Amino acid sequence: MPSDNDGIMIILSSPSGAGKTTLVSLLSKLENFEVSISHTTRKPRQNETQDKDYYFVTEEKFNRLIKNEEFLEYAKVFNNFYGTTRTPVIDKLDKGKNVLFDIDWQGADQIKNKRLDYKLITFFILPPSKEVLFQRLSNRDMKDKLIAEERMKQFSRDVLHWINYDYVVINENLDNCYSKIYNLIKAEINNGSKDYDPDFIREHVKKLTS
Ligand code: 5GP
Repeated sequence: MPSDNDGIMIILSSPSGAGKTTLVSLLSKLENFEVSISHTTRKPRQNETQDKDYYFVTEEKFNRLIKNEEFLEYAKVFNNFYGTTRTPVIDKLDKGKNVLFDIDWQGADQIKNKRLDYKLITFFILPPSKEVLFQRLSNRDMKDKLIAEERMKQFSRDVLHWINYDYVVINENLDNCYSKIYNLIKAEINNGSKDYDPDFIREHVKKLTS
């Protein structure tokens, strides 16, 4: 049962390569913040751990979770399925934990539309420029330039969803970006004043999409 002591939900989405996963991991170190661990049918990357980064599952298992209506949201992203199971999230929120979600715009839309009785803050993280994004994507998947190029194309489509988020934050410098998000969360929780300039963001998006 929702109450005043419940935790809040904080969604971070971004086009691939904007640094969102690092930000989520930094925020998860804050007292009373926990990350929602997603299920995915994607194969683990070398540095990833089962049950910590993701629950890596077969498509068969994923389909079973869909059928049993266990997902709060799920979506297909880059040919793989990703989803958030409902029970662990609600359990954390009911215990007063703030839950961080590293999910794409489709999942963010689904959670928003559920209109749960928990406070929700949504962030969309953007890279400082398309050039920087390409560099970041190329470094990550050195072996396969095609993946970087494919994700650049995906970027042009994903960036258009910025408009549906409460806040858009530019990740030029990790520390600054983290502080910006942290301060906005604090301001939201305490009903304080928010350091946020929507006009600046609109101009930045214009540059990224031109
Ligand atoms: P990656 O494969 O690089 O870890 O993630 C690819 C994309 O899937 C990222 O944008 C990430 O935020 C998103 N994603 C990860 N988990 C979930 C989830 O549970 N639901 C949705 N909708 N997207 C997710």
